[in-house]
Amino acid sequence: MNATLTVLGSGTSMGVPTIGCQCAVCRSFDPRDRRTRPSVLIQYGGRNVLIDTTPDFREQAIRENIRSLDAVLYTHAHADHILGIDDLRPLSFRHKPGKLPLYARADVVAFIRNMFRYIFDAEYKFGGLPQVELHEINGPLALFGASFEPVTVIHGETEIYGYRFGSAAYLTDHSVVPEAAFEQLRDLDILFLDALRHKPHPTHSTVENSLRIVERVKPRRAFFTHICHDLPHEETNASLPANVRLSYDGMKLEFEI
Ligand SMILES: [Zn+2]
Ligand SMILES: [Zn+2]
Ligand SMILES: [Zn+2]
Repeated sequence: MNATLTVLGSGTSMGVPTIGCQCAVCRSFDPRDRRTRPSVLIQYGGRNVLIDTTPDFREQAIRENIRSLDAVLYTHAHADHILGIDDLRPLSFRHKPGKLPLYARADVVAFIRNMFRYIFDAEYKFGGLPQVELHEINGPLALFGASFEPVTVIHGETEIYGYRFGSAAYLTDHSVVPEAAFEQLRDLDILFLDALRHKPHPTHSTVENSLRIVERVKPRRAFFTHICHDLPHEETNASLPANVRLSYDGMKLEFEI
């Protein structure tokens, strides 16, 4: 089945421009240097599946004219990946039948349930609440004729999920891609990887490290995300191999799911 992946956000947790920063990338007029927090939308067969709800979700949904959502998958419970959950309200109200399903690892389900207690606590009666329900996943998830397979990666000290769906895989926030994950990344058309910057970071991958992953996985096309203000779009792209590109907000890719 034909599918479209839209990059809703390609930036690191603080976004680019970063508040208060006067560096060249933060002051750049290139729209591809403006990076909201990391998220992608997968569309196929009339369905919309979102990965993560960033603090920029409202702006991203309006920019991309998202009019419905059928499911949300979470990678992990860091603020830059979950804080937009309340902005699911208008789309969750339209979800039929029942509540909008959110899927995540057990630890992420527990964290979200605790952090956003007002959403899931039946006693809370004030204001409109997102009509969502949390589901734990620990293996492949069948959604509307496609399969979303969790790919466990290491993010600093913790394990988090990336996802493989059809011929594409989306791995954000990884310092290490463990051996088992490589088995799940065979024969890819599209591979998304974390590439924060050049300088090493305890919980994120670098451009150089992610290029080594690309060399090993050999996807047809690779795209970097979770990018900070150290990497100017145009200049960094010029330094990358032909099949590797920095992603940017609003980028759309066709693939088979
Ligand atoms: Zn992140
Ligand atoms: Zn900056
Ligand atoms: Zn993270």
